[in-house]
Parts: sequence; structure tokens; C-alpha cells
Amino acid sequence: ARDKGRNTYQIYAPSLNVAAYKLYTMEKDLRKSIAAKELFLVFQPRVEANTGKIVSAEALVRWEHSDWGVISPKEFIPLAEESGFISEIGDWVMEQVCMYIVRWEHKGLPSVPISINISAQSFLRNDWLAIIKKILNKSKVDPALIELEITESSLIHYQETISEGLQTLKALGVRIALDDFGTGYSSLSYLKDYPIDTIKIDKSFIDNIVDDVSDQTIISAVIQLAKGLKKRVVAEGVETAIQLEILKGYHCHEIQGYLFSKPLPDHEFQTVLQSKVLQ
Ligand code: C2E
Ligand code: CA
Ligand code: CA
Ligand code: CA
Repeated sequence: ARDKGRNTYQIYAPSLNVAAYKLYTMEKDLRKSIAAKELFLVFQPRVEANTGKIVSAEALVRWEHSDWGVISPKEFIPLAEESGFISEIGDWVMEQVCMYIVRWEHKGLPSVPISINISAQSFLRNDWLAIIKKILNKSKVDPALIELEITESSLIHYQETISEGLQTLKALGVRIALDDFGTGYSSLSYLKDYPIDTIKIDKSFIDNIVDDVSDQTIISAVIQLAKGLKKRVVAEGVETAIQLEILKGYHCHEIQGYLFSKPLPDHEFQTVLQSKVLQ
């Protein structure tokens, strides 16, 4: 059995090694990416469903690797989560976002809240809240212009720590969004127990909204629920005009998706901010 195992290993070894090597290299390079200035942010507008008015934007990280080009966060965020580097990325994103907000303000652009994706790991670091406070104080950015997005699935673990962290953040004046709503082990009690301002309905529900009656029922119920609880509700990943019409019919507040805009680099986002409304 042992020999057989060894043979099997030999057959698959080359491809395994390539994959493992790439992963190893990626993780090693990722640790250097901040200092190497290879990370950058793009901004995806969030618009009011009825008017197309830009009311907010989400900051999304990109990694431009020297050999591999731009790598999607879907590839490197899980790696960063695994290696613990995610909280350094998180701090960097927070700093960058505050810097951009100040820059845009100086240019006289309309100021809209910017949301930032937060890993549950950040909450477990005992210096994290102090770092957030420090960045806010140093940049003098109005905390109301920062919204932190936390995924529903991350709330299953470390509930007490995260709950306390969120209360502290709320007290600072930042907003909290529940991201990817509907995909985690959803518990409606999250909406009651955590200080959540915004619910972001996951793209997977929006994808089939045109012909899936169950998804229609779920989405319209979630929107009603959010309204009843006085929370903002955002539909993520809206790509077509028909999806938008259906969501308007349910009185969904806000839309984020390619129909209005893909995530944009700084200069393009500035142009869009200036125009105030997206069609
Ligand atoms: P997310 O937080 O759910 O972000 C939304 C993702 O959906 C983004 O992908 C966005 O580009 C994409 N998207 C938005 N509208 C549409 C649409 O109409 N159609 C399609 N097909 N996609 C749409 P992106 O930028 O590739 O980010 C993927 C995920 O990586 C994010 O999902 C988030 O979980 C994570 N991520 C990105 N930036 C950060 C970050 O700075 N920190 C952390 N912790 N995670 C991040
Ligand atoms: Ca998000
Ligand atoms: Ca999301
Ligand atoms: Ca997602």
C-alpha cells in the first residue's frame, strides 16, 4: 500500500509542486506587497435605486504583482486570511481610504461615505480599535464617512469579542454594514444583537431575481425586514435593467453593481463623483 501511495505521489507530484510553489511564492510576495506599493484600491459606487444618485462607495483592494499582473482579491484575500497578513492589509486600506477622503474633500468633490471590508481577524487583535481611532484622529476624517463591512459568516465565531468591538466602533461614529447577507449561517438575531446600519443582500440572490420566485420572495422579505428595523438595504451585483426594476418595485434603497458601475480607479471615481448621478 505504501508503494502504491508513493507511485501515486510521483504521478501527481509535478503539478502539485507547481501549485504549492505558486501558493508559497504568492504568500511570500503578498507580505512584501504593501512596502512594494503593489496594492491599490478601486471604488465601486453605491447609488440610490430610484435616482441613480451616488450615495456611497465600497473600497476594494487589488494587487498588481510584478510578474503575474493584477491578481483578484478572491485569490489573495483567502491566503492573507490564512497567513494572518489580512489585518495588516485592513489597516493599510483604512489609512488609504482616509487619505483619499481628505484628498477628495480638498478638491471640493461631493463627500460620500466609503465602506471598507473588515476581516473578523482584525477584531481579535487587541490593538486594532486603537489603530482605527488613531487613523481617524490623525486624518481628521469624519467617522460618519466610514462604513465597515463585516460578513455575516464571520459573526458565528467570537461573537462576544466582535459584538464589543462593534459597539466601540459605533460609539466612535462609524457605520456598520452586514455584508453578503443571506449566505452565512444566517441568524435573524444578528440584526437585533449587533449595531448594524446597513444590510447588503448578496449577489447570489440578485442573480436569479428575474425568474426565481423563491429568491424574489426572500429579497422582498429582507427589504421589508430591513425597513422595519430602520436599516439601509443594498442589493449587490445588480447587472441588468430588469433586476433594477424588480428591486425598485420592492422599494430597495440602494444598488451596487455593474449596471451602474464597475469598481473604478481613483481618477475615474473622481469623475463619477463629480457627475453625482449615474445612469
Ligand atoms: P465583496 O465584499 O462581496 O465585494 C463585492 C464584489 O462583487 C467585488 O469583487 C465587486 O467587484 C463584485 N461586484 C460588484 N458588482 C458586481 C456585478 O454587478 N457583477 C459581478 N459579477 N460582480 C460584481 P472583488 O473586488 O473581486 O472582491 C471580491 C471579494 O474580495 C470581496 O467581496 C471581499 O470579500 C474581498 N475583498 C476585496 N477587497 C477587500 C479588502 O480590502 N479587505 C478584505 N478583507 N476583503 C476584501
Ligand atoms: Ca463587501
Ligand atoms: Ca458582498
Ligand atoms: Ca461576496
